[in-house]
Amino acid sequence: MNRKITLFLLSVMFLLTVCACSANRSYVSADVTYSEPTAQYAFRLNMDYHETEHAKYYFEPSIENKERNACIDVTDNLLSSQSFGDVIPEIYIFSKERYDYQYISDHKLYSSIQVWKSAAYITDVLLTVYGEKSHYGTVFGYANAIAQSQKWDAYDGKFSKPTAEDILDLSYLCFDEAFVSSDDVIAAKELSCAFVDAYIKQYGEQSFMQLLSSTANALEALALYYAENGITYTPSAVQYGHGGKSYDYLVYSDYGTFYIANDWVDLLADLNPLVTDGFLHTDYSNTKAFFETNLKQMKQYQDLFALDHYNNDLEIVFPKSISASNNSYYHGIDHRIYLYNVDSLMHEYIHSLTVMKSTMSGWKTEGFARYFSYYYDLYGIAMLNQDYNNTPNIPELQHIHEYSANINRPIDIAKDYSELENIVVYSRSWTSPDENYITGSSFVQYLVKQYGEADVINFIFGDEEPLPKTYRELVKEWNEYIESNYQTYSKYK
Ligand SMILES: [Zn+2]
Repeated sequence: MNRKITLFLLSVMFLLTVCACSANRSYVSADVTYSEPTAQYAFRLNMDYHETEHAKYYFEPSIENKERNACIDVTDNLLSSQSFGDVIPEIYIFSKERYDYQYISDHKLYSSIQVWKSAAYITDVLLTVYGEKSHYGTVFGYANAIAQSQKWDAYDGKFSKPTAEDILDLSYLCFDEAFVSSDDVIAAKELSCAFVDAYIKQYGEQSFMQLLSSTANALEALALYYAENGITYTPSAVQYGHGGKSYDYLVYSDYGTFYIANDWVDLLADLNPLVTDGFLHTDYSNTKAFFETNLKQMKQYQDLFALDHYNNDLEIVFPKSISASNNSYYHGIDHRIYLYNVDSLMHEYIHSLTVMKSTMSGWKTEGFARYFSYYYDLYGIAMLNQDYNNTPNIPELQHIHEYSANINRPIDIAKDYSELENIVVYSRSWTSPDENYITGSSFVQYLVKQYGEADVINFIFGDEEPLPKTYRELVKEWNEYIESNYQTYSKYK
């Protein structure tokens, strides 16, 4: 049979199967509030609501019936074709004039009108059902297989090695031309399809469905697929997803969700050698390195502090660009960090882990966070190193130059923070731990030297077992320690 005729017949059959149920759909009016996290963007709208056995649909009233029916037909057809569990997804469709974005949260998809018969739309419906944290490449590969079976526009899966190894993650950003080359976007799509095809051929569709509901299983299967094709690679566990209007993208992890505003820029970019042009908005490898590094550090802090429990429903917001300078901070009630400059992330993260003792005095909060933030903080330390190694030659900073001359090498804050802070405290003749962040940190350092990390952490944040001496005695000892050990440095009065 002529290929054109076959395609025609298949599409007629498909249309016939769905047309039977698309007539006379009725709608009721529903008041809908759309709100993106941290209230960056929200609106309220009366929408037309329709419910089927498989999903709940909300359409902006201006959207024509033909468009609504096409959306419902494709979605219901998909959801009725497989057992997708008990989830009834909610689909909110807006006109392109109102909202030309995608956002998925809590089994709700917010989208503008799009090509319904496409792998892109099926991917979003599947992410809505299985959760936005699902592995994007696995979902896309399966959506593409559905598109192929329906004779829609689809990719042919083939195993091809992307130019950059990181693309093998097949995460959401690997499909975005802002982050990878257009050739690598195609490679990511083809590779995803090839992976899903190979998996279904080998293990069957039933087994594959479990990869959709478990990101860990999907990543494991993907690594195995690479190994079978002669590549040793462990795909990243960090997942990225749609950001709606406010955010370029979201980052899902075991330690919290990151929200990167579309126009976020690091306010201290000029001072930080690791913050490159277009930082976190371009270059997948660089972006991935940032999140992987910081997530590793966040785990290291949880291991170090070893508190009873942690609330990992943390939100880390990289806010909209603002003209005035702003300080990064942790908001305890919302359990949310606002980050204007990435060198502050670990400091604020330490606050988020230890904030339950909100009545604490200054040095216990800021001294503690500052002292321990030197432990694991690649991005903060890079910035401090650049700063300390370019100290202006002015009288009030003479002690820094004296220290540089003593060590006879560039300052490396990861090694030198203890000495430098003590020298600064000496140079300024500061005597109270609550004077500022540096005195607090130097005092915590002194306590750690005397009693060890575990006892100090426990004293401040654990069961508060008292240290063997009173606060007054400890401060006196610390003052004497500073005065007697740093006499070779200049005092600035
Ligand atoms: Zn702080």
